[in-house]
Amino acid sequence: MKKKNGFTLIELLVVISIIALLVSILMPALSRAREAAKKTVCSSNMHQNGLTLQMYASENNDKLPETTDAQVGSWPFDIPVPLAKLIRKENGGTIDTLFCPSHKRNAPTLKTLDEYAASHGSDANDTGWYITDYFWFANWGNANRKTWIYSQSPYKGKKMYVSKITAKMASGHPLAADLVWTQEGALMPVEDLEDFYNIRGADILGIVPSNHLSGQKAKGGNVMFLDSHVNWTDFSEMHNHYSGWAPSGTGGSTRLFW
Ligand SMILES: [Zn+2]
Repeated sequence: MKKKNGFTLIELLVVISIIALLVSILMPALSRAREAAKKTVCSSNMHQNGLTLQMYASENNDKLPETTDAQVGSWPFDIPVPLAKLIRKENGGTIDTLFCPSHKRNAPTLKTLDEYAASHGSDANDTGWYITDYFWFANWGNANRKTWIYSQSPYKGKKMYVSKITAKMASGHPLAADLVWTQEGALMPVEDLEDFYNIRGADILGIVPSNHLSGQKAKGGNVMFLDSHVNWTDFSEMHNHYSGWAPSGTGGSTRLFW
């Protein structure tokens, strides 16, 4: 009897279909694992940033560093150059902890950030700022932002910013949060806001959409608290904590979620 060489077409098709089946079973698990890893890295970034803020406070009579400067027009995700430099120093020269790994754009390099900071003030005398992937609530120097208060429980009526590490609500007051936000008006079609799950978010200069998106929908985000612990919250559990004033020149209104 003649010995068969190689595969028949049927055998080949069976092998291919088995591989396709395995891939279809494994892919969702792999993608879930990737997203879980991103959440973990994000949480670790925030925790590191929290430790740096705590360290600064412990050396400055409990006073937290400014996370917005007095510059009108700066957003809650901008931080002044001196704080960025401190965080860079405390993390062995890297600025990675300022960025969420789930963010759609490529994390900016130190060079592009320095160029941005230099174009929005002078890096030499520390008056510029960096765009990060997180909202910051510590010690707002921006007069407009100091008026922001929580619109929903559990902090309804309280000021959003916190200036001292010994503040009341110490265990629970948020110090930073993942970017989950919208920008109505000039930068985003209003119809996109009818379903709050559809919050691609403002895309200012194409660089700051919301973090942890699944397509156009927000999955949720991490929040870091005054004691530097970090909690993940699904979007369905998040609150629209702020809605209103947006920095000048954009002609819209901002909604922030955490
Ligand atoms: Zn994140």
